[in-house]
Amino acid sequence: MSIPKGNPLPAESPTQSIALFERARQVIPGGVNSPVRAFRAVGGNPLFIARGQNAHITDVDGRRFLDFVTSWGALILGHAHPDVVSAIVDASQLGTTFGAPCPAEVELAERVTASYGALEQVRFVSSGTEAVMSAIRVARAFTGRDLIVKYAGCYHGHADHLLVSAGSGLATFNKPSSAGVPAAFVECTRVLPLDDEQALQALFDKEGARIAAVIIEPTPANHGLLLQRKEYLEKLRAVTKQHGALLIFDEVISGFRVARGGVSELTGIRPDLATFGKIIGGGMPVGAFGGSRQIMSRLAPEGDTYQAGTLSGNPVAMSAGVAALDALIRDDAWAKLEALGAALERMVTPVIAKSAFPIRFVRSGSLFWLALHDGPAPRAAITLSEKNSERFASIFHAMLARGVYLPPSAYEVCFLSTAHTTADIEHFVNALDESIQLTAQRVG
Ligand code: PMP
Repeated sequence: MSIPKGNPLPAESPTQSIALFERARQVIPGGVNSPVRAFRAVGGNPLFIARGQNAHITDVDGRRFLDFVTSWGALILGHAHPDVVSAIVDASQLGTTFGAPCPAEVELAERVTASYGALEQVRFVSSGTEAVMSAIRVARAFTGRDLIVKYAGCYHGHADHLLVSAGSGLATFNKPSSAGVPAAFVECTRVLPLDDEQALQALFDKEGARIAAVIIEPTPANHGLLLQRKEYLEKLRAVTKQHGALLIFDEVISGFRVARGGVSELTGIRPDLATFGKIIGGGMPVGAFGGSRQIMSRLAPEGDTYQAGTLSGNPVAMSAGVAALDALIRDDAWAKLEALGAALERMVTPVIAKSAFPIRFVRSGSLFWLALHDGPAPRAAITLSEKNSERFASIFHAMLARGVYLPPSAYEVCFLSTAHTTADIEHFVNALDESIQLTAQRVG
């Protein structure tokens, strides 16, 4: 099967990237500012990216790749979307930060609250990690309770008390936790398996009166894509309500991705608090958490729960977010992304069906995962065998050689953007077909 023209195949050796990585390793731990970027799970040298345009990135060696990472889902409109770039240029000419209120933060807050049913108020921070940390603090303040519950395989950023059985980079390294987190800090954290009503009920029967909140990625996307049964999420909503615990949907990935109103819109389930990041910043560093006015008014300066940030509500970042959300809403992007995702699924299904080793294609709208896994799509965190990790590494590098940039870990999901075209999808499927066959020969 031939690769469609228009994507020059990458040269063999990324000379400039190798040189930069060498320099980076001297002055940045592991040469990267976020672990999964280092390619440890797939081997080889990480690529240093020089620029991005629409669905493509170009590395410092001038090699062009079709991008299915899109900054881990932040760039739902693709790279350098003209509306977002103009908003950033216009805003930055007026000053890059004031440390005082600015109009754009009100505009973004109005759009976020209007899009997400459970939100009356929202506060902006600079990352998803901060959003989750702050949501948990306000949940504890509001309930007057200490315990928080998270799920094995769900990732909520790198705050101490949540680095327990997390996904993302931690799944890659197969570590249940992190050094540097005192045991005392996680004493108030409980971990549940996904998709298990009995375990949920048993925990609440035992400790329900002490639980401040349960946090979940309602579509977990940090340990592969673990699509949840709606009934399970409904049970979770009912149990938390019954015991006076808050339910936090971490929609840092799924928010404005699977639907304008995230998983909450798709399921009709209203959490008490929700957290966001990625898309709402249009590619700038933004996070947010929100809920009812009653809960959010516990935050300083109205309430007694402290939370702050020098660059929170930054005018450039807020303007980028407003431009991104406006473009998504104007173009009814979610319908387009669903159609693109469905087309990909149709095209990929026969390719996967003839694979010599098991692969499953798991999708929710524009999020998808190539699960190198035997059996039905998992709903709870699974550990891939060494053989399957090896197969993924082989597929990853074969795809790279065919001009396709995948997340460099078998546990990370892929992202479509509105900039991806049907031709891009065809390129992906053809490249995957060849990569699977090559992997069957090389790895078995
Ligand atoms: N929550 C979820 C669901 C995430 O996927 C992430 C990061 N991918 C975070 C929180 C943390 O966000 P950040 O990396 O912006 O701190």
